[in-house]
Amino acid sequence: MSLELLDQFHDPDLCKSVLKRLEAALTGPLRFMEVCGTHTVAIFRSGLRSILPKEIIHLSGPGCPVCVTHESEVNAFLDLAENPKVIIATFGDLMRVPGSKSRTLKAAQADGARVEVVYSPPDALKIAAANPDATVVFLGVGFETTAPGVAASLKMAKAQGITNYRVLSFHKIVPPALDALLSDPDTDIDAFIMPGHVSAIIGLAPYLPVASKYGKSAAIAGFEPLDILQALLFLAECKRDGRAEVVNLYRRVVRDEGNAKARAIMAEVFTPADALWRGIGNIPGSGLEINDAYAAYDAKREFGITITECPPLPGCKCGDVLKGKMAPNLCPLFGKACTPAKPVGPCMVSTEGSCAAYFKYQVD
Ligand code: SF4
Repeated sequence: MSLELLDQFHDPDLCKSVLKRLEAALTGPLRFMEVCGTHTVAIFRSGLRSILPKEIIHLSGPGCPVCVTHESEVNAFLDLAENPKVIIATFGDLMRVPGSKSRTLKAAQADGARVEVVYSPPDALKIAAANPDATVVFLGVGFETTAPGVAASLKMAKAQGITNYRVLSFHKIVPPALDALLSDPDTDIDAFIMPGHVSAIIGLAPYLPVASKYGKSAAIAGFEPLDILQALLFLAECKRDGRAEVVNLYRRVVRDEGNAKARAIMAEVFTPADALWRGIGNIPGSGLEINDAYAAYDAKREFGITITECPPLPGCKCGDVLKGKMAPNLCPLFGKACTPAKPVGPCMVSTEGSCAAYFKYQVD
């Protein structure tokens, strides 16, 4: 995108005029969920949060991959890190996520576990090639945005004959989580801003049931101030007019049909399976397991890893935060026992975590 075009998304006059229309369209509270933590952060960072009408009520959602990684999944990779023949390869944001005993990969690494932070799955492949004495296990955590790259790394491992590379797949997919949220009688959500990155892969169609089945509106939106204002205007107008619609307002990045190539590579390597989400529990069909064709690269099969429910972290309200039932700053531990420097729960660890965003931008 040209800088000139990008400038338009920050243009104060354009933003002011959309804000005015938004104020006029609101007929009462609009409880909207920012499914993706990146939107939460963008709303704070741009200063929108302080100028939006008070009728706009922000609800956090389950779109931060680190935050929804279940305690049992964290426990599983912490256990695996104890194996001296294993090198764990991971994105950096998992290093400080606590398992159910508050232990982290960072602490395990300090105690001598072989843990390497990588920037991409191919980096993990390089580590495997350089360490034939060890099994390199890449921690597959993320949504539809991350899974195609991990699938590609497994294809590369197969093609290059790298036999000591494995993936521990805890990938999750977004539409079943939305279905679970909307089926929960305790949630109170008027509308959604859908994650731009995930939508670039899955497209518009998987969100249509939000309107057709549940009568709520949703907008796929970008992360610039004007993107967010336009999405809120659309959602407010839908509510005012009593319609439920799903729209793609991020056409400079997201095609309605999504990215068929990325979905094909995911389908070649993964198969949908039930998955545990932190604070939400089991959601049928919301995970991605490595399929039989790539069984030799599946860390779960090799190390006999099974994931079962375990108690949540004591006092942590991440589950309620991720379901939009509680604002982060209303958690009793927020800013006291739980801070970014000493996080109790994952929502305070990740830069996309809503608790970390509320803390950074000083909501109290
Ligand atoms: S403030 Fe900390 S303990 Fe409370 S919900 Fe957020 S991450 Fe969990």
